[in-house]
Amino acid sequence: MLISAERLRDFAADIFTAAGTSREEGERVARYLVEANLAGHDSHGVVRVPRYVQWLHSGFIVAGVTPVIERETPITAVVDGRYGFGQTVTPVAVKLGIEKAKASGLAAIALKNSAHLGRVGDWGEMAAAEGLVAIHYVNVHGSLLVAPFGGVDRRLSTAPHCIAVPLPNRPPVVLDFATSYVAEGKVLVASRGGKRIPDDALIRPDGSVSGDPAVLYGPLTSNDRTPENGEGAIRAFGLHKGSGLAFMCEILGGALTGNGTCGPREQARGRITNGMLSFYIRPDVIDDPAAFVARAERYIAFYKSSRPAEAGGEVLIPGEMEARNRAERGAKGIPLPDETWASIVACAEAVGVASTRIPAAA
Ligand code: NAD
Repeated sequence: MLISAERLRDFAADIFTAAGTSREEGERVARYLVEANLAGHDSHGVVRVPRYVQWLHSGFIVAGVTPVIERETPITAVVDGRYGFGQTVTPVAVKLGIEKAKASGLAAIALKNSAHLGRVGDWGEMAAAEGLVAIHYVNVHGSLLVAPFGGVDRRLSTAPHCIAVPLPNRPPVVLDFATSYVAEGKVLVASRGGKRIPDDALIRPDGSVSGDPAVLYGPLTSNDRTPENGEGAIRAFGLHKGSGLAFMCEILGGALTGNGTCGPREQARGRITNGMLSFYIRPDVIDDPAAFVARAERYIAFYKSSRPAEAGGEVLIPGEMEARNRAERGAKGIPLPDETWASIVACAEAVGVASTRIPAAA
């Protein structure tokens, strides 16, 4: 299935609206999911629609939430997302950080109890577009998926980390990744017939490694993809260093924000919440922004000038891959595996989207 971003956005918004959100919120959630597909991160795109609807109906996500600022100083704030859609409550927290950093040069914002906030790069890009450096440490309370370096039991969430840098005249420079070997969504996409994950991305209780999504989800015979059904775990990336960064995301994004760490499980089974500790820096409080940009650009040219490791290869900087995907998918459309498409259509039918509103498979 190849579908344009615009049609996919409309369709996903129809589903969320039929499932119980306002049209405005449905469109917002749909827009961010499709943005992830455009960036090439299908793991955080529309493959999530059925799961979001399931969470909405079970009360794990609450529609129409206004986040609450619990504490505030001129340069800090604690924002309680009150289980609202991450796509609704996170922009409020990021906007607050942008305003404070613009006024004072630096800000730290703790967001807790946000439902799944999607691709963290969206939030880094939002700040970078306003001329700010942004650094995010994120955890997922209630989502035990990842084994630490040296272990086989799940003790970490996929705890993403993101750094965004404002450099004008080029696509967003954004490093944004899960601290797990692969994002859970990538296992989900693979389990639905999409791109395979590496053969050593998962670990079984006996310590052997695997690329079979059934290690995480249990037998793939039903439509259900519940990580609790599997016996294994995703491995942390980058050996002890990646595992250590993931640990710090739990400590900063989970323990310090008040969101709660990934475990031991404290919340109702099934509810997951993102916690995010974000730092925003206005570059001009450190140095002349023009001098910073010039130095960074000289370095980028130097970095990219490395001879490729493989014939025809190339060195990319953070964010370059996403920019290329956006250009290609914006022009040609977004490819979706048949199984992903079928699960979204089944979800649309279940919530009562009119059949005339369901795009025909190409
Ligand atoms: P990934 O492994 O695709 O890595 C992406 C990063 O690597 C980007 O910064 C990208 O620019 C860079 N990159 C990609 N290819 C490159 C290359 N060839 N050379 C140099 N740099 C390259 O990402 P991931 O770990 O699969 O994470 C996917 C998304 O999942 C992220 O957007 C992340 O925020 C999101 N996520 C969210 C949650 C949540 O709870 N909300 C949890 C985990 C992950």
